[in-house]
Amino acid sequence: MTAPPIAATEIPFFAPDLFDGDRDALLDAVRAIGTGTAQKFILGEHTARLEHALHTRLGSDQVADVVACSSGTSGLSLLLAAMDIGPGDEVVVPAFGCAPLAATVLDAGARPVFADIDPVRLTMDPAAAEALIGPRTRALLPAHMFSVMADMPAFRDLADRYGLRLIEDSALAQGGALRGRPAGCWGDAGVYSFVQVKTFGMPGEGGVVLTRDAALGRAVRVLRNHGQDGVHRFVHHRIGLNSRFDEVMALFQLHRLPGLDGRLARRAEISAYYSRRFAPLADRGLIAPPEGGDGRFPYVYTVLTERRDALRAHLAARGIASHVYYPRPLPAQPAFAPHAAGPGPGPAAVWPHAESAARRNLSLPLYPHLTDAQAEHIADAVRAFAGTDPNGERR
Ligand SMILES: *Cc1c(COP(=O)(O)O)cnc(C)c1O
Repeated sequence: MTAPPIAATEIPFFAPDLFDGDRDALLDAVRAIGTGTAQKFILGEHTARLEHALHTRLGSDQVADVVACSSGTSGLSLLLAAMDIGPGDEVVVPAFGCAPLAATVLDAGARPVFADIDPVRLTMDPAAAEALIGPRTRALLPAHMFSVMADMPAFRDLADRYGLRLIEDSALAQGGALRGRPAGCWGDAGVYSFVQVKTFGMPGEGGVVLTRDAALGRAVRVLRNHGQDGVHRFVHHRIGLNSRFDEVMALFQLHRLPGLDGRLARRAEISAYYSRRFAPLADRGLIAPPEGGDGRFPYVYTVLTERRDALRAHLAARGIASHVYYPRPLPAQPAFAPHAAGPGPGPAAVWPHAESAARRNLSLPLYPHLTDAQAEHIADAVRAFAGTDPNGERR
């Protein structure tokens, strides 16, 4: 039997045209900053305006400061530095997620201790995290994943009970909220990433740190520009980073901000549609996130199936691109494996839920300009797959 021909990809996973409608605004921003008399390209008035606009959007009851920086990753590094977390310290991070969760902790000279994830939320399991808290633990670093917020009330409680810092990796969760509190506002501090594909993505690198702790915000402001205080040039109060924000991107993001809620709503609509179509597939081994609900945000739409690679091929044959975030748990990455022993003597640590999620996850296209017809084509294709046995025969 010959395999069906693979159709050309008609629906990309990473849409190449996210900013097509904003091209003129981008060119205007380049021209305005490029020809401005101040010739100020970083950390100028537009960056300050963007910080202010995001602060206002979240509300002063939720955050004390929003500080623009050069990426979500560097936001995490700034927070670790601002909290004086370094050699000899441990930070509890999820075993499943993106590289910065482990890399920023190692870069700070501290040790990431990997906790298994909750098998349903796919975010760090608070009980697993608690079991790893020891005398060297300084902080908990849970991350929101795909479209589900981590159990922040549980992590807030753990951090308070053990006297730990709580850093919330909300890099991809801008627009989410749990019990009325926005993603990023549960921890001592959180971050948002503006890298292209994120919910408030942009055509370049950038992000923000947001914090309820004004002193922490001030420390991050100093650290993002080589430890200077913004008043006295070449007076370095602390060993800082270069994590500044670009004025062209600030102007562009100010232009995009009013449209953010509309784009989030459209993403949520498509995501809810998928969940309605996929709900009946649970007893056929295809697990989809439930429709809507508290603590949800429409970033990436991810299903779980043991037949992940077959589903991926089935979709590709129908012109639908998909993506595997992340194919292996963090402790199984060559870069992190040497640092991934258990918390002390005893058997090697294992992360069965992280391993299972890495084996089974597949993400489907989800972006605001996906059409209803495209979403329907994707949902039909997934349902057709789940209605067939592994040999492709209808059940
Ligand atoms: C995207 C992302 C980051 C990193 O943000 P960058 O801006 O790409 O550095 C960190 N954590 C999570 C959970 C992310 O999704």
